[in-house]
Amino acid sequence: MFPVNKFRTERTPFYYYDMGLLGATLDSIKKAVGDSDFHVHYAVKANANPVILSAVAKSGFGADCVSGGEITAALKSGIPSSKIVYAGVGKSDEEIGMALDARIGCFNVESLEELRLIEAIASDKGVIADVALRVNPNVDAHTHHYITTGLKENKFGIALEMLDEAVEFCRQSSSLRLRGLHFHIGSQITTMDPYVILCDRINKLIAEYDGRGVHFDIVNVGGGLGVDYDHPDRHPIPDFNAYFNTFRKYLNLSEGQQLHFELGRAVVAQCGSLITKVLYVKQGVNKQFAIVDAGMTDLIRPALYQAHHLIQNITSESDEECIYDVVGPVCESSDCFGVDERLPLTSRGDLLALRSAGAYGEAMASHYNLRPYPHTVID
Ligand SMILES: *Cc1c(COP(=O)(O)O)cnc(C)c1O
Repeated sequence: MFPVNKFRTERTPFYYYDMGLLGATLDSIKKAVGDSDFHVHYAVKANANPVILSAVAKSGFGADCVSGGEITAALKSGIPSSKIVYAGVGKSDEEIGMALDARIGCFNVESLEELRLIEAIASDKGVIADVALRVNPNVDAHTHHYITTGLKENKFGIALEMLDEAVEFCRQSSSLRLRGLHFHIGSQITTMDPYVILCDRINKLIAEYDGRGVHFDIVNVGGGLGVDYDHPDRHPIPDFNAYFNTFRKYLNLSEGQQLHFELGRAVVAQCGSLITKVLYVKQGVNKQFAIVDAGMTDLIRPALYQAHHLIQNITSESDEECIYDVVGPVCESSDCFGVDERLPLTSRGDLLALRSAGAYGEAMASHYNLRPYPHTVID
């Protein structure tokens, strides 16, 4: 499956991207969208590698950005500015200014304070800002607490109690055009139940505003669709039909209302693997450690979210199996990719693949311990 011979001559660690799988995933999204008025904006923060962004751009998807840097990267990859939306609780004055200059499609606004700043900057520039209000719908996505974003206690979005005031502020302003409502309840969501609840909240909210003569052209339901980290080969492509059909079935859209999605992980997770070399097999007390040359600086998800990536030894030819803790070289106890991993007999020089690492892998790499960034092999 992996081009192992090619890998043997590469400096490790590196991210390997299977562009065939990425292409098939993008095609599968397009097919599941069909002729619905659904607009998919790829969440750039999941993976901003220029080759990946270009593939996304070529498939005709837009971009969901969370910083000025991401807006620049999206534009550079060929995504038209009208298909760029911009979220984030802490947009700076400079970032808002550059997004207005670039004429992005929509600001997903996360507070009244931000709304006032966008209005002031837009008014100074003599332009009109298209905005959607990010609503915190208080829906529990039942995912890890660090990646749950739609609960009252989270910093994201405008609380339902304050939404009226924000809507009214937009309606009074000649520098703001209120386009829609935005929601994003969390990440790595693997059942449709949270989305069904979200649809129900949205239906009620939209009906309430319709009753008051406030109509939204855009409903943006964010992203969050999860992937199968345990069985990447069994489920290389997420079930986009089930995902989109949930919204088709449960969301009451009116004539001409667009539905926007912001998928990140589901698009890129499975096409990437982190390839690392075993430096030492170290005998501990009642334990064996496979110490590898990749660490939390290359892939931080296990340390940050207690996530687990399937680990495979892709060069061992042994039939014997052993149990290892697979750990990195960084001076932190959390720099551990797996405890009690069953692997074929592993020796110094073997290559391991950490699977499903295409999302929030390379994008979150750091220089901690003055380690270099991982490089990439794209095929
Ligand atoms: C991170 C993020 C996404 C993408 O989330 P995934 O779980 O990767 O699909 C979408 N929208 C917003 C606002 C985000 O912050």
